[in-house]
Amino acid sequence: MLEHDVLVVGAGLAGMRAALAAHQSGANVAIISKVHPVRSHSNAAQGGINAALTDRGDNWEDHAFDTIKGSDYLGDQDAIEYMCTEAGPELIDLEHMGVIFNRDDEGRLGTRAFGGQQRARTFFVADFTGQAILHVLYEQLMKADVRVYEEWFVLELIVEEGECCGVIAMEIATGSVFVIRAKSVILCTGGLGRLFEPSTNALIVTGDGIALAYQVGAPVMDMEMVQYHPTTLKGSGVLITEGARGEGAHLLNKDGERFMQRYAPNMMELASRDVVSRSEQTEIDEGRGIDGCVLLDCRHLGEDLIAERLSQILEIGMDFAGVDIRKEPIPIQPGMHYIMGGIKTDMDGRTIVPGLYAAGECANVSVHGGNRLGANSLLDTVVFGHRSGRHAADWANGKAYRDLNVDDYVDGKEKEFSDLFSRQTDERWSQIRLDLGKAMDRYMGVYRDEEGMQSLLAMLPGFRERFAQASLQDKGRVFNTDLIFTLELGFMLDCAESIVLGGIERKESRGAHSRTDYPNRDDENWLKHVLVTRTDDGPEVSQLPVTITKWQPEERKY
Ligand SMILES: Cc1cc2nc3c(=O)[nH]c(=O)nc-3n(C[C@H](O)[C@H](O)[C@H](O)COP(=O)(O)OP(=O)(O)OC[C@H]3O[C@@H](n4cnc5c(N)ncnc54)[C@H](O)[C@@H]3O)c2cc1C
Repeated sequence: MLEHDVLVVGAGLAGMRAALAAHQSGANVAIISKVHPVRSHSNAAQGGINAALTDRGDNWEDHAFDTIKGSDYLGDQDAIEYMCTEAGPELIDLEHMGVIFNRDDEGRLGTRAFGGQQRARTFFVADFTGQAILHVLYEQLMKADVRVYEEWFVLELIVEEGECCGVIAMEIATGSVFVIRAKSVILCTGGLGRLFEPSTNALIVTGDGIALAYQVGAPVMDMEMVQYHPTTLKGSGVLITEGARGEGAHLLNKDGERFMQRYAPNMMELASRDVVSRSEQTEIDEGRGIDGCVLLDCRHLGEDLIAERLSQILEIGMDFAGVDIRKEPIPIQPGMHYIMGGIKTDMDGRTIVPGLYAAGECANVSVHGGNRLGANSLLDTVVFGHRSGRHAADWANGKAYRDLNVDDYVDGKEKEFSDLFSRQTDERWSQIRLDLGKAMDRYMGVYRDEEGMQSLLAMLPGFRERFAQASLQDKGRVFNTDLIFTLELGFMLDCAESIVLGGIERKESRGAHSRTDYPNRDDENWLKHVLVTRTDDGPEVSQLPVTITKWQPEERKY
């Protein structure tokens, strides 16, 4: 029997940090990941990680205020306070573990400016910060000898008598199904970017953990809060880091005007992401774009700075757009990037299902509220990964393993698989996924309205029917990616349901949720979280108050 005190699902930054913390708390811990750990999407994080270090006169309260304002006052302020006070110690820990952050001219840890923040507090490793941190944490896990189920795919959570006590998973290399018993499970499965087409996210980012939790009755919260990043490449959706604007790049419309002066005269290109994306979309919609895009101009930054700090962007420009950013502006547009919503947790990472925890992008504790600040996500993953790892280990401590009828679970899955393998239709996951992604982008993008969201809601049963018909071309069990993509599509459909229902419920514009039919923020009625819970009678929508500690909502200007 495979069994561990603490089982961490996901080997991105949240998962690795959680596993390390659980290990340090004395638990027998394992990580399970559908890809090799360092291929997790955290690897793609370019720009950096925020922290307010006091050695340069910064302080956590300013960071907290910027985060709260960025969240459009929807973030829970107790959680934000915790994140911002822990940021410094967490950053220094990472440095001590071996992350080689860029230095400034005086040899101290260097910073770059990021959007929505009064000062430069983003620490970085060139433009591959996520990769640098992920590799260092992986080394730590290897040193600690933590078991990694590499290229294993979690299919379902096991909940008995209301407690989470393990998972059903498939070893991708063989296609064999196993039960892994655990006293606590931490979901660190990342976001759901690929539910939208296009997206900056890797192909593997399909909302699995959010759906797994939703399926066992854990509420998801503020799922309507979908971040569109201001600078993604046309068509492919590949990300151009906010670090480019942090280093001074300009946004121009077709007339060569720095249009942000009309929308955010103080912070210009470095206003928060929702504001910049809306401004770009307005320029495009009002005919001042070029072929659905505006331009990002890096030319004045100079070749040396670009080579030193934006080398990956230089390559991305050449490879994916055929543009040399040193010589010409690059066309960009707002594109799906991040989900602020996720599995509702408390600050210890607990969901409402005992034994089930969540951290990182799949969770919503809620530090990002209606809009996440750039470089606050990596911070969220390490701070709350760390804390949930510790608490999941405490929960497991002294508990006995539950007796599970392993054969029943495995046989149940085998039966589902044989039904799936025996289908003979022309319906394929790829076309459904594309159609769903385009519909999500169209109706849940930068601007939304009731009519669009209702029409999307009405389309979902049709997508589900097609999904129920989808058949596989690859009928083998060994490394069957056809099967994996199909299973992921099932998770995506659950996520879509909660996003649309959340969007319809929230009748105001706040953060990333901009409704043309309710253009204003409405604190009187909607300073609230929106929760969606799956019940036997279908999804149920409810609300919860936002935690305010000391920052009262104000008008948001940049
Ligand atoms: C291109 C890009 C650039 C970014 N840049 C920045 C930045 O500069 N700063 C910043 O703060 N944020 C940035 N972000 C956001 C940030 O990188 C992510 O929010 C964060 O890394 C998510 O980490 P995570 O640990 O929650 O999940 P991930 O890193 O996405 O890891 C998820 C893990 O879950 C596993 N998994 C998922 N489903 C299953 C399953 N069914 N079975 C088994 N395993 C599963 C995967 O294998 C993977 O190991 C960026 C995001 C993107 C896409």
